[in-house]
Amino acid sequence: MNDRVSIAIDGPSGAGKSTLARRCAAAFGFLYADTGAIYRTVGLAAIRAGIDRRSGAAVEALLPDLKIEMKYNEEGEQRMLLNGEDVSDMIRMPEVSLAASDVSALPAVRTFLMEMQRSLARNHSVIMDGRDIGTVVLPDADLKVFLTASAEERARRRVSQLLDKGICEDYVKVLAEIRYRDEQDMNRETAPLKQADDAVLLDTTSLSFEESFAALSQLILERFCIRQAEKEIKTGR
Ligand code: C5P
Repeated sequence: MNDRVSIAIDGPSGAGKSTLARRCAAAFGFLYADTGAIYRTVGLAAIRAGIDRRSGAAVEALLPDLKIEMKYNEEGEQRMLLNGEDVSDMIRMPEVSLAASDVSALPAVRTFLMEMQRSLARNHSVIMDGRDIGTVVLPDADLKVFLTASAEERARRRVSQLLDKGICEDYVKVLAEIRYRDEQDMNRETAPLKQADDAVLLDTTSLSFEESFAALSQLILERFCIRQAEKEIKTGR
């Protein structure tokens, strides 16, 4: 795969986008870009500023003071910096998830973060995951996948992931939070979560992680490697 390629993976919260995308990026030698992390960083900044996260004016006023950077450490792991501070762990807190969903509905926030995402794809072969990557950020992506699973299954996976970390979370509460974010992400006016017309739908409700990984890898292989091999056979190289 010599030419720069971009793969857009969109879908609702908890569909397993980041785990799958990270694993595929490592397997195929792409850079993995988790765009949810940048919205989370703005969400964290809004929480810290103590402003109304749903107020366009209040959040917009905050943006000029925010320096948000996405960096990759030596292990190739994406880190988020907010005004120079590494906030990569902090942005995973549940209240930040909700704040991210709130601020991401604001057009000014989406415009503010757009160039950061596009410049990554210009400079690297990427697997980028989010909500509007195939529809807005990278409309010309080489492969678009809409990854989903039922809300109940996503909540079940989330509770079990938390249990693995020794955190016991109420299933009904987790399900309600997932539904809140789905509702907000799908119904906002700017860049709502939806499947791009040319995206492949991958529903992982009844698939294990390994089966989902195999299905996504297969899509990538079909789209790129087979095409590349055919090109090489044709040109005799
Ligand atoms: O993917 P993750 O759950 O970390 O994203 C946090 C929130 O950021 C989402 O609920 C969504 O509202 C928002 N988001 C977005 N557009 C993206 C990525 C995330 O609106 N491309």
